[in-house]
Amino acid sequence: MMMKTNSGGKMSREKLEELQRKRLAKLVAYARKNSPYYRDLYSGIGERFALSDLPPTSKPEIMSNFDSVVTDRSISMKRIDEFTENIGNVGRMIDGKYLIFKTSGSTGNPAVVLYDRQNVDVQSAVAALRTFARREDLDSFLSHGKRTAGVFANYGFYLACGMSRYLQLKMPRKKTKITVDVNAPEAQIVKELNEFRPAMLSGYPSNLALLADIAELDIQPDVVITGGELLTDEIRQKLTEKFGCYVQTHYSCTEAGEIACECPEHHLHINEDWVIVEPVDKNNAPVAYGERSDKALITNLSNYIQPFIRYELTDRIIVHNEKCPCGRNTRWLEIEGRTDDILTFAGGVSIAPMSLYKILEEVKTIRRFQLIQRSECRLELRLISDEPDIAFDQAVRDLTAFFEGKGLHGIEIVRSDKAPEAHKISGKFKHIYKGNL
Ligand SMILES: [Zn+2]
Repeated sequence: MMMKTNSGGKMSREKLEELQRKRLAKLVAYARKNSPYYRDLYSGIGERFALSDLPPTSKPEIMSNFDSVVTDRSISMKRIDEFTENIGNVGRMIDGKYLIFKTSGSTGNPAVVLYDRQNVDVQSAVAALRTFARREDLDSFLSHGKRTAGVFANYGFYLACGMSRYLQLKMPRKKTKITVDVNAPEAQIVKELNEFRPAMLSGYPSNLALLADIAELDIQPDVVITGGELLTDEIRQKLTEKFGCYVQTHYSCTEAGEIACECPEHHLHINEDWVIVEPVDKNNAPVAYGERSDKALITNLSNYIQPFIRYELTDRIIVHNEKCPCGRNTRWLEIEGRTDDILTFAGGVSIAPMSLYKILEEVKTIRRFQLIQRSECRLELRLISDEPDIAFDQAVRDLTAFFEGKGLHGIEIVRSDKAPEAHKISGKFKHIYKGNL
């Protein structure tokens, strides 16, 4: 297979768009030929089509039609269920052909995602060649033996875990990559990281920020690359101070793979040769450059076993087409949220997590907090403070005043004696949370 992966950002726009069109046409033709679901979905569409002619797809649709979406008739959800029942199959290919991943389902039910070999190769190549924002960090990483430690959910069929297990199985003697279980006790995480001395540290920003508070954690990575959630300026700053190295992020998801990689300007450049990103409003109408979308439609151009074409992601993004000083010709994007949940109240009033986060952050006596929405009118506040009574009273006063300002009356805020904690399954920590932990 031709993989001009390292030149994605240097190609001219015309060439890039031509490549994208060719790859899309090939994927769509393959899907129509081999997937009964897509054959049906595209039945009214001619040989020549524009991307916008193709009906958008969504997780509930793709999952409920799984057996007819996949392009290999020997694969079925029943067989996937049987295969994934054995946890020893993490990182192994079913029939020696496809890797299986499951999403954590933070936005609804989990998705099952199959990767064929081409997609595995493309995702690995993009990750290896494009994730580093700065050449000098890549060089130091290589000179320190590519020692990589990821703090993730180290079990199950999650992307990070499954992919690193796959590589381990492929090269069992290489000990350059470890995954540290994000849900292990803090002392154990610290011990494993201190002993391994990674050149690259990766993990969820919220979780790395918690680890950065631990004085015993004593490592000097060349670079920290976060993923899975929004990397806020505050967390970037905090991690830079703790680890004394460059801190950056990238934007990926299980269904689309590596969507965008950061450049030295902190811009997330879309890997447009392998993924198409469309910012859209609630009705799937396009949103202009520079304006915030309600969601994104993504098309993964490298995965043929389970095509994701104009597939809906709930991420709110802003796509930019102005030239970036870094010299890459690809469009770049900003992402909103992904760290915390949006809370919804009676009458359909939605509150952005950032507003609540900022209010609680302003309560100086609070050291760490977590606000959990249990019902439309009941919130639970978990906090760590040297003066918990004073902290709680002030938090309730400030939050109540904020809610009243939004016309929300009678919201009950109860105090929990539990400490803030990460989600038990995904291991992601959220400050503002909806539902059950
Ligand atoms: Zn740039």
